[in-house]
Amino acid sequence: MDTVINIGRCAICGIESTESLTRLTAKGLQTLVDAAVKDDDDTLKHYLLSQQSASLSVHHSCRRQYTDTRNISKLSSDDDGPSAK
Ligand SMILES: [Zn+2]
Repeated sequence: MDTVINIGRCAICGIESTESLTRLTAKGLQTLVDAAVKDDDDTLKHYLLSQQSASLSVHHSCRRQYTDTRNISKLSSDDDGPSAK
């Protein structure tokens, strides 16, 4: 499977949309890698580390959400669980 993501597609959500993308700086890349490590997201971590920051773009909203530790959850889906009440 080819995992190449072209510029124009968000590195976090992988969705190609008309929403404006922010090009990652080296610092921004490191922040995302740290967040991926905390979130046990090996797929994203390896992907980020395999790329050059200059070739990575993300949605501003995705980066903000992903790097906000308050929003990091171990659950992949936390809004439709049977225990939600
Ligand atoms: Zn995105």
